[in-house]
Amino acid sequence: QEDAFKKVVSHAKEYGFIFPSSEIYDGLSAVYDYGQNGVELKNNIKQYWWKAMVQLNDNIVGIDSAILMHPTVWKASGHVDAFNDPLIDNKDSKKRFRADVLIEDYCAKLEDKATKEIEKAQKRFGESFDKAQFESTNERVLQYRAKQQQILQRMARSLEANDLADVKSLIEELEIADPDTGSKNWTDVRQFNLMFGTKLGASADSAMDLYLRPETAQGIFVNFQNVQKTSRHKLPFGIAQIGKAFRNEIVARQFIFRMREFEQMEMQFFVQPGTELAQYEAWKQKRLNWHLALGLGQENYRFHDHEKLAHYANAAADIEFKFPFGFKELEGIHSRTDFDLKAHEEFSGRKLQYFDPERNENYVPYVVETSIGLDRMFLALLSHCLKEETLVDGSERTVLSLPPALAPVKAAILPLMKKDGLGEYAQNIFNDLKYDFNLIYEEKDSIGKRYRRNDALGTPYCITVDHDSLTDHTVTLRDRDTMEQTRVPVAGLRSIIEEKTSF
Ligand code: ATP
Repeated sequence: QEDAFKKVVSHAKEYGFIFPSSEIYDGLSAVYDYGQNGVELKNNIKQYWWKAMVQLNDNIVGIDSAILMHPTVWKASGHVDAFNDPLIDNKDSKKRFRADVLIEDYCAKLEDKATKEIEKAQKRFGESFDKAQFESTNERVLQYRAKQQQILQRMARSLEANDLADVKSLIEELEIADPDTGSKNWTDVRQFNLMFGTKLGASADSAMDLYLRPETAQGIFVNFQNVQKTSRHKLPFGIAQIGKAFRNEIVARQFIFRMREFEQMEMQFFVQPGTELAQYEAWKQKRLNWHLALGLGQENYRFHDHEKLAHYANAAADIEFKFPFGFKELEGIHSRTDFDLKAHEEFSGRKLQYFDPERNENYVPYVVETSIGLDRMFLALLSHCLKEETLVDGSERTVLSLPPALAPVKAAILPLMKKDGLGEYAQNIFNDLKYDFNLIYEEKDSIGKRYRRNDALGTPYCITVDHDSLTDHTVTLRDRDTMEQTRVPVAGLRSIIEEKTSF
C-alpha cells in the first residue's frame, strides 16, 4: 500500500502533474505546484463540478470572491475563537501531532482488526458466509466496534467541552505511542489556530491584521444579499465558488491530501428554515451521484455521518473515498443552519434577510453546504486510476485510466516517422483539431514508446499517421484502455474524440 502510494507521488512528478513547491530550495512543507498536465486535469475537474452545479441547476449561480476579507468576518464566523486543532508534542522525538488524529488512527487500527476477523471468517465459510449476520453477532468484531465508538464519543465530548486534559488522558490510557519512535512521553494538549495571518497596509501602526481565508464559504455568506438581489432568485437557491483556501495544518502528510494552500469547490444552498434537513439529505445523495458518475466504482465511496458537529452545524456527513491509505474524507455536506448569516448580521449591524413572498415575511435563510477539496479529488483520481498492468505477452505497462472527460490530453497525434510527408500530414490533423481539444503532437521515439508514454499520461486516444494515410486518408486509432487499434477516416476523428471525451 505504501509502495503504491509512493508510486503515485513519483508518477505525479515524472509526468508533469505535481511538483513540490520551490523545489530548488528543498521545497516548502505541504505546498505543491501543479505542472503542465496537472493544471489541465485540475481545470477539467473544476469544469466537471461547475457544470454539474452551476450550469445544470437553474437555481445555482457562481461567484469568485477575494481571498483577503475584512478581519471581522473571521470573528463572526467563529474561526478566530474556534478554528483550532488540538496539538500535542512528543517530548522525546520533539515531533508535533494532532491529538485527535492520533486517537482516530488508533481507532482505525481497531477497525482493521474487525475487518481481519471478517475476512478470516469469509475464507473459512466460503460461499455460505453471511457478512451482515457475522458482523452483527461476532463477539470480537462487536468488541472492536464498541471500543472504537466509546473512544470516539469520549474524544468528541472532551473536544466539545474544550477538556484538553481528558484528551491527553485518553491518549495515555490507550497507550498511544509516537508512530515513528514508539515513545509515549507526551506534553499536554493545547489548541492551535489554523489561520495564516498577514498584514494590510505599509506603516506599522496603521497596518491591519488580516487572515488568508481558511474556507471559501464566508465569501459567499457576505455576498448573500448582493447575489440574491441582483440575480432575483427565490429560495431555495445556491451560490457556488471555486477558490484557494489556506490552513496552517499541524501535520502535513499524505502528499496533496492535506496541504497548507489548497483549493475548495463549495456551494451554499439557501433554504427556508425547517426544510434544511430534507435539503441536506437530497444534497448528500446528489453529491454522491456526481462522484459515482465518474465510474471509479461504488465500493470506493461511503458516507460517514458526524457525531461531533462543528459549532455551526445541525447535521453533517462526509463522503469518504478509498485512498491508498484507507477511507478518508473527500467532501463534506453540512447543514449550517442560520449560524453564519445571523453572526454576520450581529457583527456587521446589517440585515441579511430574505423577504419570502409566499410566507409574506422576512427571515434569515438556513444553509446547506457542499464542500469538496479540489486537490483531494485530484488525488482520488490519480491514485485510483494509476495501474500497473501485465500484458498477454508478459510485458508491463503503466496506465492512468482517467475518465476520458477529465484526461489532461484528449489525443496524441503521432506520425510513424517524420519524413516522407508524414510529419506534415499529422501536423495538419493537429492544427485542425486543436481548437476543440487539448492535444499533443509527438514525433520523437519509437511508436511503442510514445504509446506507453501516453498511457501513463492518461491520454484516451493515440492517432497514428502512416504511409497509407497519405493516400487513403485514414489513420490508426489506438484506445488507451483496450489497446485496440482500428483504422478510421481522418474526417471522422473529431466526432470520435468528442463522443469519448465530453462530459
Ligand atoms: P479534515 O477533517 O480532513 O481536516 P475538514 O473537515 O477540516 O477536513 P472542511 O473544513 O469540511 O474539512 O473542508 C471541506 C473540504 O476541503 C474537505 O472535505 C477536504 O476535501 C478539503 N480540505 C480541507 N482541508 C484540506 C487541506 N488541508 N488540504 C487539502 N484539502 C483540504
